[in-house]
Amino acid sequence: MSKKKRNSASNKRSTPAHKKTTKKKKKAGNARPGKPASAKRHGPASKSKKVQARTTRKSAAKKVSKKTTKKKTKNQSNASPSRKRIVAGKMIYAFGIKTEGDGAMRDLLGGKGANLAEMTSIGLPVPPGFTITTETCAKYYANKKRLPKGLMQDVKAHMKRLEDQRGKSFGSNIDPLLVSVRSGAAVSMPGMMDTILNLGLNDKSVVGLAKATGNARFAYDAYRRLINMFGNVVMGVHHDRFEHAFNQIKSKLGVKHDTDVPTEGLKELCDAYKHVYEREVGSAFPQNPMKQLQLAIEAVFGSWDAEKAITYRRIEGMTGLNGTAVNVQSMAFGNMGDDSGTGVAFTRNPSTGENKLYGEFLINAQGEDVVAGIRTPRPVAEMPKWNRKMYAQLRAIKKTLEDHYADMQDIEFTIERGELFMLQTRTGKRTGAAAVKVACDMVREKRIDEKTALLRIPAGDLTQLLLPSFDPSQKSEDKLLTTGLPASPGASVGHPAFTAAEAVERAHAGEKVILVRNETSPEDVDGMHSAEGILTSTGGMTSHAAVVARGWGKCCVAGAGEIHIDEKGGTFAVNGQTFGRGDLISIDGSTGEVFSGSMPTIEPELSGNFAKVMRWADKYRTLGVRTNADTPADAQRARDFGAKGIGLTRTEHMFFEGYRITAMREMILAKTTEQREAALEQLLPFQREDFIGIFTAMKGYPVTIRLLDPPLHEFLPHDDDAMHKVAHNQGVDVGEVRKLVAMLHEANPMMGHRGCRLAITYPEILAMQVRAIVEAAIECANNKIKAIPEIMIPLVGTHQELSILRAHTERVIDEVKKEHGFKRKLDIKIGTMIEIPRASLTADEIAEHADFFSFGTNDLTQLTFGYSRDDINSFLPEYLRKDVLPEDPFQSLDQSGVAQLVTMGIEKGRGQRPDLRIGICGEHGGDPKSVHFFHRAGLDYVSCSPFRVPIARLAAAQAALMSE
Ligand code: ADP
Ligand code: MG
Ligand code: MG
Repeated sequence: MSKKKRNSASNKRSTPAHKKTTKKKKKAGNARPGKPASAKRHGPASKSKKVQARTTRKSAAKKVSKKTTKKKTKNQSNASPSRKRIVAGKMIYAFGIKTEGDGAMRDLLGGKGANLAEMTSIGLPVPPGFTITTETCAKYYANKKRLPKGLMQDVKAHMKRLEDQRGKSFGSNIDPLLVSVRSGAAVSMPGMMDTILNLGLNDKSVVGLAKATGNARFAYDAYRRLINMFGNVVMGVHHDRFEHAFNQIKSKLGVKHDTDVPTEGLKELCDAYKHVYEREVGSAFPQNPMKQLQLAIEAVFGSWDAEKAITYRRIEGMTGLNGTAVNVQSMAFGNMGDDSGTGVAFTRNPSTGENKLYGEFLINAQGEDVVAGIRTPRPVAEMPKWNRKMYAQLRAIKKTLEDHYADMQDIEFTIERGELFMLQTRTGKRTGAAAVKVACDMVREKRIDEKTALLRIPAGDLTQLLLPSFDPSQKSEDKLLTTGLPASPGASVGHPAFTAAEAVERAHAGEKVILVRNETSPEDVDGMHSAEGILTSTGGMTSHAAVVARGWGKCCVAGAGEIHIDEKGGTFAVNGQTFGRGDLISIDGSTGEVFSGSMPTIEPELSGNFAKVMRWADKYRTLGVRTNADTPADAQRARDFGAKGIGLTRTEHMFFEGYRITAMREMILAKTTEQREAALEQLLPFQREDFIGIFTAMKGYPVTIRLLDPPLHEFLPHDDDAMHKVAHNQGVDVGEVRKLVAMLHEANPMMGHRGCRLAITYPEILAMQVRAIVEAAIECANNKIKAIPEIMIPLVGTHQELSILRAHTERVIDEVKKEHGFKRKLDIKIGTMIEIPRASLTADEIAEHADFFSFGTNDLTQLTFGYSRDDINSFLPEYLRKDVLPEDPFQSLDQSGVAQLVTMGIEKGRGQRPDLRIGICGEHGGDPKSVHFFHRAGLDYVSCSPFRVPIARLAAAQAALMSE
């Protein structure tokens, strides 16, 4: 167990606030052993990603069952149609000698209830009980929060059956039957009511229990737990109040641990608890067991409407649920001595996927003790040392469960005097690495087929496999400084550098640095590239830093607002600590966490199972996958990741390096066409070399090159020093430079003089770029390298723009060919980005001049919503919180709005030109949910950053399988 978990859990008993946190985390399935600590902390944006991954997995599972129903009914009852009869109006379904429900009845019985029935049916040892349906919960609300008529009669009848099965009677003062009351909706949900154990005990039956078991200590321990849980969970008494009473007794007896309190002390404690209860509730602890049961059932129903439950459902977009089910189950006692115990386990390791039971158990303990942190649980692997037979039985159960569910399970069990009982099973959450390994292993074990395996792996989780990550066991709360946005995944360690120039210089000298800035701008790209990782204090998931870093696969934490940077002083402060150039920090771009010191990392493993999954994905997908890459290195990396071409090469990054920016500035500041051409002349050889490098890396595959896109002022110097330098180089007065910079300044550059507008007004720029492309292609052809350039004109909004620029481009192509005496065919396609709403609206006209379309969904989203993606972080978090937007539209394509423009663009474009090739090159190309849409919309390919290529391949395969 991680130190972190123990820490937070051990607080559980002292502060109720902590208790809630712990509980919540656990219910969310996050605080289990092996679950990387990172999963616990997520910004809103990454949260929606998680949810989405989950939904994908869920709907994927559903789909599988539909497709292979015949084979799966036996195997995958979790997802297959119910074998049992759902009776209209029936409020209670039993499990035990007679089992009336099954695993397929999740909606009606909740996940927990359905699986308790299922486990009973397949012969696993489950303490018998019954489930009150979610529909009954809905009736309770329809009935103004009163239990529906007849429910308690039904409950009594089922309790009678339970008494017969167990040979004990409820509330008896001889050998009483005790039950637990457990909530459970169709979908696992934090915020629902906590479980109550040992229900049915009172002043008399506790004596009976002591006699029947010959264990008075156990009986009073159970009783004090009941009063505490019932008081806390059903009546809302602060846990503190009970805790206080317990501490008093412990200090009176001079003992430290709960387990050291003798029987007499526990008896005294029960009395003290009853006093607390009466004082806080205003009435005595109910002695009538049926009254206890009724109040508990009402409390479970009531918790469905608790604020935290409502909030959770809203955030997760859960709708159409009836309510929660209530499970009433006879008790198995893990606290009857050293031959008893309780535990939680995964049937396989949820971090690595290793096929071995993984979990923890605690001897002589009950229920939540394992996660409560009062005592330290032991790893399940150590169980044989305690009780070989129990371990063997647990392994047999693992096999039964996996044979049956054909998936990794997350289980809860209790051992009563050497007899093992199963209390819960559900599909186990896992890391990306575990998902891949478990899926491949299960195919090998013939439990599932390739298609099912593909659908089981949440595409987005592959990121975890592609990049280095911090060893989850090494993360610690004490080192966590703050949490920003998980802007670009990966893990990096380095010394802070506060300017781009400084980062370049120090990295050059061999130091590992992390660029720490308020926000980055295009001028910082050099420094960003040199740094191990990037940390910004402002800016969102689509800020400059985030987008650029993602493109490179470089780790970035953005918008860490708690960080205060003193650029001049060379320090940053965060939560009372200050860090300078000499200090080491570690940033986790997958979680947004920032740590002090150096954290050990784990390197990615791309062969073996990962490669196998990718092969399967390629077999089933129909959508092409290209990459967005601006450098030969990125192109090569993307090719290694399986990209079949480049869907977007941005040329602007090429103008920043070294001398180029000077030539670029000269070009911009030139007053005459001749001056401009002279400056461009200097840039030409650099551009040509860039293209040759990229064509070579991508040989045989198409490379779509976007002509210059950003507004010119982005290339201009903004500080005094730089302006002086430019003035000096150009031999002009610095005042003149200043004037020009001011003149070129635009109020809204993103909508200003950029994209094809630049090419229309400065045709020389287009001419130079096209020349560089053609010369590069010719040189490649002469060297027998198959280059397939495609020229893409950005930001087209009218067909006239494209028709003029196309003609111009063709002219330059011919000219260059002629100059070089190149007679062979150079097949250079000319197309456009569709990123302005008007381009979609008039796609038929535009298609007349285009060989291909590529949807630039970033700008299309920006212009359709009217949001600037650079500033969106000032209101997006609140929008997400208040449900104004279901998710960040720059991360996952807005399927009801922007998607229409995509669909329209495709229809109109292909209507005009049936052979029109259409792709997308926005950030959305690597987002699984968006990829599903692009598949359905009939695009030819998606293009995404190199590190997302495998994600896109898998998502495309899943989309194809799901629409089969
Ligand atoms: P959660 O949804 O928080 O996991 P559960 O309803 O699963 O809550 O209950 C938590 C724990 O309580 C179980 O893991 C189990 O250890 C214990 N528990 C619940 N019901 C019983 C029972 N009938 N007998 C023994 N232990 C039980
Ligand atoms: Mg549970
Ligand atoms: Mg654009």
